[in-house]
Amino acid sequence: MSSELKLPLYFDNNATTPCDPRVVEAMVPYLFEHFGNPASRAHAYGWTAREAVEIAREQVASLIGASAKEIVFTSGATESDNLAIKGVARYNARKGKHIITVATEHKAILDSCHALEREGFEVTYLEVDSEGLISLDALRDAIRDDTTLVSVMYANNEIGVLQPVAEIGAICREKGVLFHCDAVQALAWLPIDVKAMNIDLLSISAHKMYGPKGIGALYVRRGRPRVRVQPIIDGGGHERGMRSGTLATHQIVGLGKAAELAEQSIKSGEVDKVRALRDRLWDGLRANLDELYLNGSWEQRLPNNLNVSFAYVEGEAMMMGIKQIACSSGSACTSASLEPSYVLRAMGVDVELAHTSIRFGLGRFNTEAEVDHALELITEKVRFLREMSPLYEMVKEGIDLKSIQWTAH
Ligand SMILES: *Cc1c(COP(=O)(O)O)cnc(C)c1O
Repeated sequence: MSSELKLPLYFDNNATTPCDPRVVEAMVPYLFEHFGNPASRAHAYGWTAREAVEIAREQVASLIGASAKEIVFTSGATESDNLAIKGVARYNARKGKHIITVATEHKAILDSCHALEREGFEVTYLEVDSEGLISLDALRDAIRDDTTLVSVMYANNEIGVLQPVAEIGAICREKGVLFHCDAVQALAWLPIDVKAMNIDLLSISAHKMYGPKGIGALYVRRGRPRVRVQPIIDGGGHERGMRSGTLATHQIVGLGKAAELAEQSIKSGEVDKVRALRDRLWDGLRANLDELYLNGSWEQRLPNNLNVSFAYVEGEAMMMGIKQIACSSGSACTSASLEPSYVLRAMGVDVELAHTSIRFGLGRFNTEAEVDHALELITEKVRFLREMSPLYEMVKEGIDLKSIQWTAH
């Protein structure tokens, strides 16, 4: 059976997705044949490239219910997040120097906020509950007269948890503060309407939705109240002065095609097939194994994400054991320290359990046969590792681990 499968199985689609072949096909002509600079106004090479860029701008805008003029191309969502956070905060510094975000945001958001703190801005980091969700009342209470921006992600990259974006947008609009949303993880899976959701700025990345790496966009709402951002990259004044630099035509064409395919996929129900695969994996794991803990809300969650703690099985050991499955571990250190995932810690998951967490990210190209093979591999490995775990043994014998006085302490 496994001989037909491409190994290792790719179950890490929250980290990056492969480029869809239809995206690759759309991009190739813009490398050699149509290589012009979209800013060259005097000849056909430039016009052809510009036309392709403008079609892509429409495709990206259409995915989120925006208009093409509201899309600014960037090098990816890290840059989009930086531009949104620093750009809005700095532009509005005379109005106020307070911004609000969440403890479980992506590092591109958190580190941009830390940079602002060093410049004298004040940042409130909202807490999340055990499901990974923020409290709307806490958000309301955190908004002050000097608050200029609220930044809350749509879907979390580790646990897939969805924040109540429309409700957050309504609160921000009512209070007169701008709302930025990092929607990178949601774009391929959920419908987004920036107008209905009152989103003022929204970060986009191509490589989490079957497009190429190194390209993204920032939606910046036009109309009243006007959203202004101070640029980070200065130069030729491209992208209405918000982001200078020669436009990467082939990358932009790829992002546009990926956006078009994402819109089709959401409308056609292809997303439900991926959800069914994710559910098959979770149901199978629960049928085969005990002591499993789901991390993050089940109801408010991306259809392709599963984040599970396999109690008594250290994440890194597990990863070594299931090398035939490409996935991520919550114990993988983002720094040199042994701190487990800050997202899990913010939800109150205890350190031990956080160290046993594994993130599975299903995707468009996964199959039922792959899920079934993964189930076999994981089940076998977890049983094997637990057989060697004295702690698991003790729990099975009915001993309450919390009641034990460990002499090493
Ligand atoms: C991947 C990711 C980013 C960074 O995007 P890049 O295009 O890789 O820079 C930002 N936010 C979230 C939620 C992500 O998942």
